[in-house]
Amino acid sequence: MGIRLKILLVFGVCFGLMAGVTLYLLRQSVNDSYQTIERRELVAHMGRVLQGLESVQASLGSQTRDWAEWTDLYEYARNPPAHRAWARANLVPQSLESANLSLIVLLDAKGSVLSKVAPSGAVLDMVSAAGKAIPMGHFKSKGRDSRCGLVATTMDLMAVCWARITRSDFSGADVGSVVMGRLLTADRQDKLRAQTGLPFEMQLRSARGLPEGVAYWPDVLAANGVGARGFWTAHDSQRYQLYYALQDILGQDLGQITLTLPRDVHLQGLLLYAQVRSQLVAMLLGTALVLALALDGLLLGRLRRFSAQLVRVRQGSAWDRRIHVHGGDELGLLAAEVNAMMGLIEAQMAGLTTLSMTDTLTGLPNRRAFDERLTLEFARQQRSARALALLVLDVDYFKGYNDRYGHPAGDAALQAVAQVLRQAGARASDLAARTGGEEFSILLPETDAQGAQDMARHIQLLLQAQALRHENSAVAEVVTLSIGIAVAREESAQEFVQRADRALYQAKQQGRNRVCGDDLPKPTGAGTLLL
Ligand code: GH3
Ligand code: MG
Ligand code: MG
Repeated sequence: MGIRLKILLVFGVCFGLMAGVTLYLLRQSVNDSYQTIERRELVAHMGRVLQGLESVQASLGSQTRDWAEWTDLYEYARNPPAHRAWARANLVPQSLESANLSLIVLLDAKGSVLSKVAPSGAVLDMVSAAGKAIPMGHFKSKGRDSRCGLVATTMDLMAVCWARITRSDFSGADVGSVVMGRLLTADRQDKLRAQTGLPFEMQLRSARGLPEGVAYWPDVLAANGVGARGFWTAHDSQRYQLYYALQDILGQDLGQITLTLPRDVHLQGLLLYAQVRSQLVAMLLGTALVLALALDGLLLGRLRRFSAQLVRVRQGSAWDRRIHVHGGDELGLLAAEVNAMMGLIEAQMAGLTTLSMTDTLTGLPNRRAFDERLTLEFARQQRSARALALLVLDVDYFKGYNDRYGHPAGDAALQAVAQVLRQAGARASDLAARTGGEEFSILLPETDAQGAQDMARHIQLLLQAQALRHENSAVAEVVTLSIGIAVAREESAQEFVQRADRALYQAKQQGRNRVCGDDLPKPTGAGTLLL
C-alpha cells in the first residue's frame, strides 16, 4: 500500500469519525429543538380551534341572554295559557332559522319543559355519554349570566347555553330558564375550519378511553396554560395528530377534536440534515482530492523523481552524478545527505580504481590499466587510421641481477627503469606500464615507426645515463633493455601485441640491449647504443 493511500485512509477515518459525531450531534439537537418548536406550534393551533369553538358558544350565550331578558317571554313563562298567541307566533321552527339556532327549550321554575322548538321533523334530544337523556333540571339557572357548554344529541354535537328568564328590567320572580342550542353541523364545522385555517375534525366519542398509541404532553400543556382536558398526540415522521378531549356539560367524555398537521419543521430538519450530510461528503471528497494533489506535489512526486535519479546512479555506477530536489525542506536535506554520501563513494571508488590500475612497486599503470588503454587506443586507431606504436621492453639478464645484488636491489632497479620510462614519456597521451615482472610496455598514440624507434633509443640512453651496474650481464656492465616495436596495421589488437612480443623476442635472440621491430627505418644493434 502506497504512502498516498495510507495517508488518505487515515484522513478518511479521521474525517469520517468527525463527520459521524457532527451528524449525530446535529441530528440530536435538530430533533430535540425542532420537536419542541413543533409541539408549541401545534398546541397553539389547537388553542385557536378551541377559541373558535368558544366564540360559537359566546355568541350563543349572548343570544340566550337576549331571549332570557325579554319581558314577553317572561310573561309567557309566568302564565303560558294567557300568552298562547305569543307562543304560536314566536316559538316556531322559523324562529330557529332566523336566529341561526337549532333548539329552543323553555323550562318552568321546576325544570319541566314548557315549550320546545326543534327543526321540523327532527328528533333532537340531548343525551349524555351513557346515551341517556340529560335531565332538564340541570338547566335551572339562578344567576343573570348565561352558562354554556357542549352536549351530544341524537343528531350532532351541539353548543348549548341557558339563562334564567327575567323581565327586561331584570325584575320578577323565578319563572324558569331558556335553553338554546346550536348544532355543530358539518357546515358549521367547515366554517370554523375556514375561520381558523386549521383542518381539525370533531368526533363524538364512540367508546371510552383515549385513542390508540397516543402520548400525553403534560409539560407542553402546562407551559401553554391548557387545562386538564388536555391534549394527546400521536405522531410519525410525516405528520402530527393531536386530540383534545371534549366534555359535555355534565363533565362526561363527549368526544374529541382531532387536528392533523404535516411535520413541516421536522421535515425541514431532515432536509437540513441531509444537506449537511451531502456537504460533508462533498467536503470529504474535495479535501481528499486536494490532499492527494498536495501530497503528490509536495512529497510523492518529488520522492518518485528522487528514486528515479537514484536508480540511474546505481544502474550506471555514476557516483559523480548528484540528486536534484527542489526546496530546502526535509527532502532537500535528505538529498543533500545522499549527495554527500555519493561524494564519499565517488572518492573511494576513484581511489579503488586507481589502486586497481597501479603497480605497487613502480607506481606505473599495471597490466589491467594497460590492457584497457590498449583496447581503447587500438579501436580509435582502427577507426581513424592514425598511427599507433607499441614498445615492449624487457630488462636483460635480470635473473642474474637478482642473483648478484639481491631481490631488494632488483626491486630498486625496476623502480629506476620505471622512472626512466616516466621521464621519457614525451606526451600526455603516451602510456608507460609495468606489464610483467621485469617487463614494461609503452603505448604511443599518433606515433609512427620512426617516432617509436626514436623513443626506444631515447629510453635506452636515459637508462644508460643511470649507469646501474650489472656485473652478471653478458651484454653490458650496466642494466640494459631489449625493446620490441610494433606499429598498428589492419589487424586485431591481439596480433598487434603479438608482433611487438615477437620483435622483443627477436631483440633477445639477436643479443639483447637492442631495438627490433617490423618496418623500422634502420635496424638497431647493440653496438649502436652501448659503450
Ligand atoms: P633475459 O635477458 O632473457 O630477459 O633474461 P632474464 O634473466 O631477464 O629473464 P628471466 O625471465 O629468466 O628472469 C626474469 C627475472 O626477473 C626472474 C625474476 O626473479 C625477476 N623478477 C621478476 N619480477 C621481479 C620483481 O618484482 N623484483 C625482482 N627483484 N625481480 C623480479
Ligand atoms: Mg622477461
Ligand atoms: Mg629479462
